[in-house]
Parts: sequence; C-alpha cells; structure tokens
Amino acid sequence: MTAFPAGTILGYPRIGRRRELKKAVESFWAGRSDQAELERTAAELRATTRARLAGLGLGRDDSSIPESFSFYDQVLDAAVTVGAIPARFDDLRDEDGTIGLGAYFTVARGEGERAPLEMTKWFDSNYHYLVPEIGPETTFSLASEHLVAQVAEAASAGYITRPVIVGPVTLLALAKASDDAPEGFDPLSRLDDVLPVYAALLAKLRAAGAQWVQLDEPALVSESLPADTAALAAASARALAVLGGASERPQIFVAAPYAALGSTLEVLAAAPIEAIGIDLARGDVPAALPALGGKTLVGGVIDGHNIWRGDLDAAFTKLEALRALGAGAVSASTSTSLLHVPHDVDDETALDPRLVSWLAFADQKVGQVVTLAQGLAEGRDAIAEALDAASAALADRREAPGVRDGAVREHAFAEAEFSRVPYEERESAQQALKLPALPLTTIGSFPQTGDIRRARARFLRGELPEDDYDDFLRREIDQVVALQEDLGLDVLVHGEPERNDMVQYFAEHLDGFAVTQHGWVQSYGSRATRPSILWGDVSRPAQITVSWAAYAQSLSVKPVKGMLTGPVTILAWSFVRDDQPLGETANQVALALRDEITDLEAAGIAIIQVDEPALRELLPLKAADQADYLDWSVRSFRLATGGAAAGTQIHTHLCYSEFGVVIDAIRALDADVTSIEAARSRMEVVADIARFGFDHGVGPGVYDIHSPRVPSVEEIESLLRRAVDELPLSQLWVNPDCGLKTRAYEETVQSLRNIVEATRRVREDVVVPA
Ligand code: GLN
Ligand code: ZN
Repeated sequence: MTAFPAGTILGYPRIGRRRELKKAVESFWAGRSDQAELERTAAELRATTRARLAGLGLGRDDSSIPESFSFYDQVLDAAVTVGAIPARFDDLRDEDGTIGLGAYFTVARGEGERAPLEMTKWFDSNYHYLVPEIGPETTFSLASEHLVAQVAEAASAGYITRPVIVGPVTLLALAKASDDAPEGFDPLSRLDDVLPVYAALLAKLRAAGAQWVQLDEPALVSESLPADTAALAAASARALAVLGGASERPQIFVAAPYAALGSTLEVLAAAPIEAIGIDLARGDVPAALPALGGKTLVGGVIDGHNIWRGDLDAAFTKLEALRALGAGAVSASTSTSLLHVPHDVDDETALDPRLVSWLAFADQKVGQVVTLAQGLAEGRDAIAEALDAASAALADRREAPGVRDGAVREHAFAEAEFSRVPYEERESAQQALKLPALPLTTIGSFPQTGDIRRARARFLRGELPEDDYDDFLRREIDQVVALQEDLGLDVLVHGEPERNDMVQYFAEHLDGFAVTQHGWVQSYGSRATRPSILWGDVSRPAQITVSWAAYAQSLSVKPVKGMLTGPVTILAWSFVRDDQPLGETANQVALALRDEITDLEAAGIAIIQVDEPALRELLPLKAADQADYLDWSVRSFRLATGGAAAGTQIHTHLCYSEFGVVIDAIRALDADVTSIEAARSRMEVVADIARFGFDHGVGPGVYDIHSPRVPSVEEIESLLRRAVDELPLSQLWVNPDCGLKTRAYEETVQSLRNIVEATRRVREDVVVPA
C-alpha cells in the first residue's frame, strides 16, 4: 500500500471548463442524444480532468487525483450506489436491482406524478444536493458501480486515482425519513444496514486498483443537522470500525470539510483508518492533537470555498504547526472540494490583470497545493519564492484603489435606519393596496426564453444597439404583464428579462464588483451560476431597476412589485472580499439598495420585494457563530428596507423550506410578506410557521419550479387547503416556490392556470362574502 500523497484536492469541478456536462446532460434529457453519447462525453471530461490535474502537478499514480465526477449530485450518487431510492421509483430498476442512468435522472428530476427527491443546500455553500429518503423499509444493496467503473477507466489510462464518495454517516444524516416511515424515524438508525454495502463497494474499488478511497463526512463538522454532534461521532466510530475492519479495502481517508472538526477528531484518530482530512480554512489548527497512530493528517489549508489567492505563507505555517503538534505524516489539501470555484482564472482575459493577480480558481488552487506539498517534502526554502509572490499580491490588494476608499466609509449609521414603523401601522396603511384574500403573485422572474438569451448575447457582442435591446425588453415586459392580467394574478411582476442572474445583474450595476466570463460553478444538477467578485467598496452610481419597474407599472392598474436582491444574497452568491467582516460589506450593499428603494417609491412602486434566498445558506455550521451571523445579516436587510414608507409593502423571498432553523431571523427581517419554498416538502413548513406564531404575511410555494412537472389543480388545491387549515386567511399568499426563469412557457402557463383555478376553488369555500 502506498502513502497518502503529499498534496491533493478534495474534489474538482465536474461541469467542465465550458460547461460541457451541462450541454451533454440537457441534450440527453431533451432526447437529442442517447445514453451512449452522454457516457462518451462524460468519459472525455473525466479524462480531460485527470490529464489537467496531472499537468498541474498532481501525481498520475499516487492517488492524489480525486475521482470526483458526478452526473448530477454526489449525494444522489451515494444514495443510488447503496440502492437507497424511494419506493415510488422501484420499477425503474433493472431486473437485477441495479439503478441505471435513466432511473438516476428520474429520481433527481421527477416524472409525471412521481415527485423528485427534495433539494436543499449543501452545508454553508450555494450548492444544492438531493435529499435521500430513507425508511425502515429501504433495502440497501450495491445498486450502481459507476465509481468502480471510473477507477477502472482511470487505471486503463495509466492513472491510479482516489475515488470519492459521500460517507455513510453523512448520507444518513442528510436523509429525511421516507413517507411511510413512522413518526420520529431517524435514518441514522439504519447505519448497520448500509455499512455492508459500503464494505462491498470498498472491496470492488480495491479490486479495480484503488489504493485510497475518500469518504466525505462533512456531517461531522455541522452543528445544524437534526442529529447532534455526539450521535454523529458515535455513528462515525461505529461506521469506521466496520469499514476499517474489512479485509479487502483501499486505505481509507475520511475528509471532514466545511468547518472545524472539534472533539470528533479524537473519534477519527482512534478509528482503524489511514488518513484524516480537516478544514483549516474555516477551522484553526487545533491546540493539541490526539494520538494519530501513524495516520496521515491532511490539512485543508487552501480555501475551497473562495477565489482569493490568499496567504500561502500562512497556509504553509499551519501545516508546519500540525507537524509540530506531533502529526507524523502531514499532507496539504484544499479545505473542501473545488466544486465551489470556477475552473481557471487564466480564462478571464477581460478582468483587470491586477485583480487577476489576487485570485486563485480551481487550477490555481491545485498549483498552490502542489507548492505546499513540495514545501513539506523539501522545506520552506524550496518554496520561498512562491510564498513571497503570494504575500506580495496580498499587500498589493490591500493598497489598491477602490478597495478601501469609497465614500460609503463616511456613512454614520443611526439606529433608526434599521427599523420601520410597527407592523400594525404598516398593515393598515397597506390596506390601500386593496388586495383580495389569498392574493396571487409570482416570485419575480418569468421564463428566460431562447429569444431573451439571444437578444442579450447580441447586445453584449455589440450587434444589437442598446435602444433596440431596450425595446426588445419592453416588448417582453408587455407580454409578461398581459399574461399575468389574463391569468388573473393580483400582484404583478415585470418578469426580470433584463437580468441574466439576480445577483450578477446588481453586481454589474454597483461599483466594487467585477464580473467573470467563464467563472461558472455548479448550483444543482445541470445548473450553474457565475458568481461576481466583490473586491472593493460598494456604491450605486445610478438607479438600477427603477425604469423597468416603472414601465411595467405603467401597463397595469394592478400593483407591480419592484424586485431587488438583498444584501445577504448578493454576498452569498458572489465571491466576497475576505479582508473585512462580512457584516461591514453587507451594510455597504444595503445602503445602495436603500437608495434604490427610495427611488422605486418615488416612481410609484408600492410593493417591493427584496429577495433573500441565501439567508439560511450562509448560516455558520457552528452554533457558536450563528448568533453573530444572524445579527449582521438581519440588520443589513433592515438597513436596506428601513427607509420604506409605512404604505410600501416590503416582500422578501427565501429559497428553502427549513423555516424552523432561522425563524427568529425571519421574524426579525420584519418583511410584510415572506414567500418560501413548500411544494416539494408538501407544505410541512406551514405547520412550523403556525407553531412559531409567525404573524406577518406568508406565501408558502404551491408549485415546485425545480421540476418540469405541471402540478394538477387538485394537487395545488390540497396544498392550499392544508395552508388555510393551519394559518389565518388574512396572512396567506399564493405563489410558486421560486422564480420561473428556468422553466419553459408552456409548463409555466399551465401551472399558473392551475394555481389560479385552485385558488378560486379555495376562495369560494373559505372567503366569507363581504
Ligand atoms: N426574484 C427572483 C426570481 O424570481 C428570486 C429567485 C430566487 O430566489 N432564487 O427569479
Ligand atoms: Zn427562490
């Protein structure tokens, strides 16, 4: 058996430098290509990745290259590998019980009446995983050997790679109880049943040539999962005793990314495994190390979460500190998979070279790891030049114009800026809006059609003059407003055709941001976003959204919602400067939005939505850090909206359904109306809202926009009735789960019609005529 490599990464982007996987997968879904073609593209991508990583300095045959490909999601991969798909998909299995690629995608995306797996955010990242459903009846078996095949594929090309799979504890800890499970059922109770399948997988990986396997166990660092730290540590001890005790297996590397491991490090240190990965970008070097029994300690010192080149010297110092604490073998790694960063900064030819010199995307981070590994082997002097260059870039960034010299630094914050008048006063002022019971609205965006994308692309290439592009967008708004009037919605939107992305659009219109050309990162499945880089002081040089909102309002007597993205979400979905507290940056963004709201009001917009879908996602994994986060995040929202008049109805939208976790924060946002996701979880959240006594307006989504499926009138009606049963009528709004931009018009219109009809039926029963 070979030693753990001196330098590695926990995972590499899977979508391809030019989003090749997205294109291939979507063309397969659309029936334009067959499975063989998709498999071929995927194999090419994996081959390109291995060659690229080897070219950047990772060893071809020392297990330093991770085998971390996924067609859709790594949690789904693990669930499918152990055969844990919900019973409603059982008929999609092959005769021998295995789960093929077609079935895999159906579990991810749903089909007809079969709802897909729920989707939620992966730890504190903007990546979404599919939530496995596990019950007492779930049968575990090795139902997919895709990972084994990938190791063999690498071997036949002359590589010894390191397969990566979500570990058993994290798989179960992230799962939800299946529908047929008894009340209070804990998926983690199935640990002993799933372990033999993992053991069988390990044996096959070994037989295929794997020297090392990486089990990702981020659940061990989280303090915001249903299972507590002690339960997770105990489960981990149990799992590793079984897997480590297996006779035929590769050496086991357990990675615990996304935060500090805490006392669970002792559990891993005592387990019969060979290497442990800890996150040293988020966590500090521990004060002392438990006895490691010869295990390699893999220091995640290069931040996998952010794109800054960072302090390489400090990273190396952390690795030296681990050695000084008595860790025999120390390796250098990224703190997390590089899934969260774009491929290569060298692709960004349009960015200011000075900014570029401060950045490190995936390929540059691989280079950093390789440098650190060399330093570990040959000593600090051997890499002194690289360390100095990184330090010089950091110093340059500190002094560069725009970083710390905005007028925004002179703003003297007054406490009154963070509050509006009491809700009751606002509620009565907002009666002037004359909305019906169960007001119908949407979350903001309408489908981004091929036409819209093409027009934008032509405008950006300079082929379409700005006036013509603006005209085109106005025609688009005309149609969207007419459609909503025709459907009978109560609060309209302009549809956001001018926005490529809800954060990037603001980034492009605010100072302090830079926008990349190819900086895509996977959001979920085939979807990717292109985060902007928030590098300097933020300010608003001119109005951003006002003309579009005002134009849409001029087309209708019904209120049109102004549509802004909140400070927390702008931060969460950008790559944010790491040289000052996030709260300070958030307040700079908030002041810009505050001015925008004043301008919207002046233009006659009476309802303004400030989206904060990322509020939950940035919540630190450690309980001790959460209060501070919730404080600054809520305050930034309140600063943004605090200048609105009593009669202006402030909406917010949150993109998830775990209302309970951040209920106090949601309450503290003090938005007049909050829309949330609820369709996939069948309105479970409504019970939470009722239980927590949340008394502002709330719109639990009745249409899952993440799936191409059209919900029936009856289905929506039953969701609505459930909501009406649990919450006062006066509080409820009716809306989809999220924006419609990723959907096609056909399914959108049908779904909205069904929503309107379902609402009509419910109104008929529950609204007492005046
Ligand atoms: N207003 C945005 C839209 O409708 C909100 C999207 C989101 O929350 N992700 O697209
Ligand atoms: Zn949303």
